[in-house]
Amino acid sequence: MPFQTDPTPARPGWPGENTAVHLLNADLHSHSRYSDGTLSPSALAARAAANGVALWALTDHDETRGLAEAADAAQALGLGFVNGVEISVSFAGETVHIVGLGFDAGDAALQAGLARTRGGRTGRAQAMADGLAAVGLQGAFDGALRYVSNPDLVSRTHFARWLVETGVCADTGSVFRRYLTEGKPGFVPHRWAGLGEAVQWITGAGGVAVIAHPGRYKFSVNEEFALFSEFKTHGGQGVEVLTGSHGTADTAKYGAMALEFGLMASRGSDFHSPAESRLDLGSLPDLPGSLTPVWQALTPRVQSSTVNPVNA
Ligand code: AMP
Ligand code: MN
Ligand code: MN
Ligand code: MN
Repeated sequence: MPFQTDPTPARPGWPGENTAVHLLNADLHSHSRYSDGTLSPSALAARAAANGVALWALTDHDETRGLAEAADAAQALGLGFVNGVEISVSFAGETVHIVGLGFDAGDAALQAGLARTRGGRTGRAQAMADGLAAVGLQGAFDGALRYVSNPDLVSRTHFARWLVETGVCADTGSVFRRYLTEGKPGFVPHRWAGLGEAVQWITGAGGVAVIAHPGRYKFSVNEEFALFSEFKTHGGQGVEVLTGSHGTADTAKYGAMALEFGLMASRGSDFHSPAESRLDLGSLPDLPGSLTPVWQALTPRVQSSTVNPVNA
């Protein structure tokens, strides 16, 4: 189905104000091999189209290198596409992810910010491998690298895949619990981008900034309030209400917070891999009718031709 946002009357039987705009199968959060996903951008585009996605964004961690291929593949399939990225941010002692949508990938300040954010990853990965070696797991850096297709983007996920392959853990979730989260041997505290910086890089490039999977952060009520209010003050405009890591209680809570803070609501699976991801592309529930879908603001930015060939 081609991308369209014409507001048409509510679907019969659907409660309240839900319109075709709300029912659009948008999936605005996914990862390719350019970060820690396992599929190419073209394979993701094909999977999104096959699953009935109407509007798709590729949102690799701190990286836009896959966007040109994604846009070309989406165009060939008649799939609506917007540029995306997921920026790693440090806030109140936690890592927070900010998704950028519909920006100009050729923007110099955005690219400089992303390059700086990626820049610390290799040293961090070496320190992670040192921590794992100290508990008897030798060779983790080279092991993780075997799963990396973009050498600038070594992530904890690549370590997790190697530790599953070598039989140390049964699945990536257990690797994170035993080795890669705060206080565990392979965890290395890291300073990512500032919240204001990340929002500014995105909005300065003409994009919309969105708080990713808010239900995943271990914030107190006050810290979470600070995140939302500072994000808004910096010019952030959206929050993921529907994401692969939210249960129904999270969806209700962050839907209410979207209304309270005047944020648009986003919807994205956070798909990484057919073998690992619980939720497939395009398979989230519909957005509640009381919320403003972020894709209403993205309409002028939907691509049907080519993107800026950044780092392609
Ligand atoms: P990094 O950017 O290197 O810190 O890696 C973060 C990535 O690790 C996230 O984007 C997820 O893909 C993955 N991740 C984080 N926590 C978990 C977990 N508990 N189980 C599986 N994957 C996780
Ligand atoms: Mn990831
Ligand atoms: Mn994330
Ligand atoms: Mn993600």
